[in-house]
Amino acid sequence: MGKNINITLDGPSGSGKTTIAKSLASRLGYVYVDTGAMYRGVAWYMFSQGIAVDDEAGVVASLSGLKLELKLNNGEQKVIVNGTDITGQIRTPEISMGASTVSKIKDVRLKMVSMQRDIASSCDSIFDGRDMGSFVLPDADFKFYLTADVDERAKRRYLELKLKGMEVALEEVKTDMIKRDEQDSQRAFAPLVVPQGAFVIDTTNLTIDEVENMIIQKIKK
Ligand code: C5P
Repeated sequence: MGKNINITLDGPSGSGKTTIAKSLASRLGYVYVDTGAMYRGVAWYMFSQGIAVDDEAGVVASLSGLKLELKLNNGEQKVIVNGTDITGQIRTPEISMGASTVSKIKDVRLKMVSMQRDIASSCDSIFDGRDMGSFVLPDADFKFYLTADVDERAKRRYLELKLKGMEVALEEVKTDMIKRDEQDSQRAFAPLVVPQGAFVIDTTNLTIDEVENMIIQKIKK
């Protein structure tokens, strides 16, 4: 049996990673893994336990009580925390910021990274995240880095939240996004960087189809 193929898509929030990764996975018949949802699951768990996400000692101490599972099915990913499906609860602005804060903690990352590497070694997969091509799977078969102008990214996220019925202001979404970008790219352990050897795509003025076709062309080559 040949080796599994792994594709990584990294980049800041709102760059189009999730939409593209999902669509590519269904087109190629690969398993799609949203690694951001895993850090969101950790933040949700800490909130549920009354532990502040920036209380490093508290977070590390309670990690052993967290059983996080991913159910990967037909392109839809469910996040299960200690037996409860929390998928519908992890897309709020509070959880977004909580995930970014908790993901600075090395022990949290190592727990997630070990799960991610297990999945990568078991099937053909596409991962979207921040450190997938740089730290988790530096030898991935294909690595991409998606980015876009911050105003465009904020607009995309704002529309996404509004579609879900959430009351948010565009300026607030943009401020949160800038803060999260800063935290994610300045953390000491496995920060958001352009992975070595990654193909960089600026999606600001591109449609989803255009980005997807660029990626497919690159893979075919
Ligand atoms: O991609 P998403 O917005 O769901 O990610 C939430 C947060 O999880 C990010 O802001 C980032 O701090 C963290 N994350 C990470 N490493 C990944 C994926 C996400 O640190 N591979």
